[in-house]
Amino acid sequence: MGLPTHHERVRRCGAPQCTHPALPGVPHCWEHVENRENLHEELITKARDGSLAGQCLWGIDLSGADLRGADLRGALLTEAKLQGAHLERANLSGARLERSDLREAQAEGATFAWAVLGLADLSGGQFPRCDFSRSNLVGVRAVGGVFDECNLYYSRPGKADFTRASLREANLTRAVFRRAILREADATGHGGQPNLDGADTRGARGL
Ligand SMILES: [Zn+2]
Repeated sequence: MGLPTHHERVRRCGAPQCTHPALPGVPHCWEHVENRENLHEELITKARDGSLAGQCLWGIDLSGADLRGADLRGALLTEAKLQGAHLERANLSGARLERSDLREAQAEGATFAWAVLGLADLSGGQFPRCDFSRSNLVGVRAVGGVFDECNLYYSRPGKADFTRASLREANLTRAVFRRAILREADATGHGGQPNLDGADTRGARGL
């Protein structure tokens, strides 16, 4: 099963001088779109019915939106604002979420396998029982986030900040926490051998 791909469908925003990609079905990016309220509702509906999988959603603001169980596989969500969004059981495998704002997101049981989350902010988010296997987590901020029972197999959280995060009973097999900050993190009962080269584990439990 191949993941949907967005590359062929990316068009540029029609606003003068704007270099951002346009959103699906409209000629503009989120910043320049007219009738943003209607589009907001339309995008949430489409996310739920799966028609946004693989689509370009660069920079959209769906903060606080109800996206439970949404199919966003392979979607381009770079710099998206998803603060406090409900993403429980959503499928974000292979999605691009670089520099996205996922602070306080509620994402229990969501799938982020193979997703790219570099420099995203997951601080204060609830991500228990999520699949982050083989995801790119380089430089993410996840201060105080909950990642209990997550699958982090072969993920790459290098230079990430997991200060006071909870990783209880998470699968950390081959996770690369090189130079990550895990101060006062709780990884009690975790499985597997993470790579902790140069990581700051002061006050951490279970590592
Ligand atoms: Zn634009």
